[in-house]
Parts: sequence; structure tokens; C-alpha cells
Amino acid sequence: MSLRVAEQLSAVQARISAAEEAARRAPGSVRLVAVSKTFAADAIQPAIDAGQRRFGENRVQEAQGKWPALREATPDIELHLIGPLQSNKAREAVALFDAIHTVDRDKIAAALASEIVRQNRRPQLFVQVNTGLEPQKAGIAPRETRAFVERCRDEHGLVISGLMCIPPADEAPGPHFALLAKLAKEIGFAELSMGMSGDFETAIAFGATLVRVGGAIFGSRPPL
Ligand SMILES: *Cc1c(COP(=O)(O)O)cnc(C)c1O
Repeated sequence: MSLRVAEQLSAVQARISAAEEAARRAPGSVRLVAVSKTFAADAIQPAIDAGQRRFGENRVQEAQGKWPALREATPDIELHLIGPLQSNKAREAVALFDAIHTVDRDKIAAALASEIVRQNRRPQLFVQVNTGLEPQKAGIAPRETRAFVERCRDEHGLVISGLMCIPPADEAPGPHFALLAKLAKEIGFAELSMGMSGDFETAIAFGATLVRVGGAIFGSRPPL
């Protein structure tokens, strides 16, 4: 098990390097978020032992259950929230996470802003864009993204670093990554959180700076 996680992690890192090179991007310009949701600490530890420091979780409560102890042993862990955030969890999210990829409405922006001031902690923030306009999916509509980012800054006082998307499962991801990259460029963002196990090389070709990869490292997850 542990050997397998270390091997799969190293295979993913090699594929990221190859995709950077193929896209003529600087080596190391893409950072890997290893998505450890649903996996217990003993499955995650081998990735930490292999040198991985950046991890992603999609639920605040699940992350609270396993990361404080893992972090005590390895203080330089960087933890990313990649799942939907409820405003009543903003306090816990700001306390635990170093990056939050899923800012997508004013209520969340306001709740994060007040916790950032209260706790004097500044997680890196991304606005999630629903590039496929899927009703069941979180994220702001593409055409509302710029105005929302401006409200985050001007009304809520938040520093936003970039954009994040999850393309529809049944469509080619390229056009969605291209749209996210175009929006980020128009707004002036350098950071793009896009690409998962099935499509991270495509995302890198379109400019991803953070890829969120779970299954290709940790193996398949039990269905939720
Ligand atoms: C689960 C998840 C991932 C990782 O997906 P894999 O297909 O396992 O790589 C990436 N991003 C988000 C938002 C997720 O919820």
C-alpha cells in the first residue's frame, strides 16, 4: 500500500513535469495538490514520507478529524479546501486551511472576511467558476465572475489569487480550461486551479498553476 502510494505519487509528478515541458512552461510552475479526501491518515502518511506537502480535502469536518495530528508530526504541510464551503464553517475553514478554492458567493466572502480579520490568518483564496453552468455544481457563472471578484475586493476586502473550476464530467475539459484561463487573464490573475486525475495534463496545457489530483495517487475512492 505505502509503496504503491509513493510510486503513484512519483508517477504523477513525472507526468506533471512532462506536461510542463510539452507546454513550454517553466519546470516547477505547476504545483500538485494531492487530494486525500476519504483516505485515512495511514493512507496519507506514505505521501508525506515521500515528500508531498500540499494536500486537498473537500470537507471541513473530515479534514479537522485527521489533519491536526498529521500536521503535528509535519508542521510544513499546506492544506487546501477544494470542496463547497458553508458560511457557518468559515471559522473552522480559516483556522485549518492555507488555501480555499471555493469562494463563490457574497455570503461566503463576507464570512471569510470577518474570520480572516478575527483570526489574523490569510489563506490563499480562489473563486470557483461554474464553467459548464451546471445547476447542481457550485461556482459563480462565467459572465458574473469579474463583478464578483471586484465585490470580494472592494466590499469584502478579500485578496483573491485566482480562479478554480471543475468541468462537467461528460464533456471534453479543454474548452472549460480555456474559458477559465481567459477569465483569469482578463481579470489579471496568475493562479489557475484546474485539472484532476483524468485531465491534469490538459489543464497544464491551458495554464493550470495548481492541479488537484486524488485517485491517480491514492487509488480509487469508495463511492460517496
Ligand atoms: C475529488 C476532487 C478532486 C480529485 O479528483 P480525482 O479525480 O480523484 O483526481 C479534484 N478536485 C475536486 C474539487 C475534488 O472534489
